[in-house]
Amino acid sequence: MTAEIIDGNALSTSIRQQLAQRAAALSARGVAPCLAVIVAGEDPASAVYVKNKVKACEAAGMRSLKDAYPPDVAPATVLARIKELNADPTVHGILVQLPLPKQFDAAAVLEAIAPEKDVDGFHAENVGALMQGAPRFIPCTPYGIMEMLKSRGVKLKGAEVVIVGRSNLVGKPMAMLLLAASATVTICHSQTRDLASHTRRADILVAAVGRAKMIRGDMIKPGATVIDVGINRDADGKMCGDVDFAEAVEVAGLITPVPGGVGPMTITMLLANTLEAAERADRRG
Ligand code: NDP
Repeated sequence: MTAEIIDGNALSTSIRQQLAQRAAALSARGVAPCLAVIVAGEDPASAVYVKNKVKACEAAGMRSLKDAYPPDVAPATVLARIKELNADPTVHGILVQLPLPKQFDAAAVLEAIAPEKDVDGFHAENVGALMQGAPRFIPCTPYGIMEMLKSRGVKLKGAEVVIVGRSNLVGKPMAMLLLAASATVTICHSQTRDLASHTRRADILVAAVGRAKMIRGDMIKPGATVIDVGINRDADGKMCGDVDFAEAVEVAGLITPVPGGVGPMTITMLLANTLEAAERADRRG
């Protein structure tokens, strides 16, 4: 069997076209959707992510602001800026790029963002709403994955889903969304015994670990849908996912590639959340 590819670039392009139309309609009403991005430190991956997010905003006809701080910035400086952005009616979404330098309490920074501008969906209020099955902002990576599954009509009701990784950013919110869609969800992590015995049962397997090619072909149920969230470098320095794509593509039914899979969808859903925040602000008047 050779799996069909779920093309994150193609799906992103079509969703971003619709978002651009909504952004244009809102701008015509005098409300320019605006995302503020804060980045602190010199993490090269963060710099690339922020650049891509800002570029994507512009391409969709949305405004963006970027505040970049040196690695030794005082947390109070960043918190003061978040307070300003919270109060600024022309800013609809606020995103703090993680990871933050070591002097920061990342949770405290995320809590400082006004929940109605928390387009990453990491504020405890938004996490709680998601947990209760009434999400206000869905974290962008799991949101993008749900859109990918929807685009291919993957049946979720009653499906056996195995998620490898239990982070607050990906694994846990992914589990909540799939549970809300009536899948049967298993979450695996570094202490899981016999990982393959779980993954082999999965109709839908989501790998969000951060270990190059750790999911091998023989860990996948034939015909399964395989979603690869990982962004890693292989031994040759080439970008790769958590799934051994060459092996997995021979076993799976549907699979996302890296690059060109979940990554572009994550940015697309950030745009969607920012636009949604701007539309809600407009409705509140
Ligand atoms: P974290 O490091 O926060 O979480 C990794 C998870 O993997 C943890 O729950 C950890 O378990 C688990 N884990 C580690 N080793 C193993 C193992 N051997 N077997 C089973 N589970 C294991 O990472 P993130 O969730 O933030 O990110 C995961 C990956 O996804 C990274 O490569 C990241 O770059 C990528 N990513 C990609 C995005 C995209 O847009 N494509 C967006 C966000 C992330 P434990 O909890 O026990 O430590």
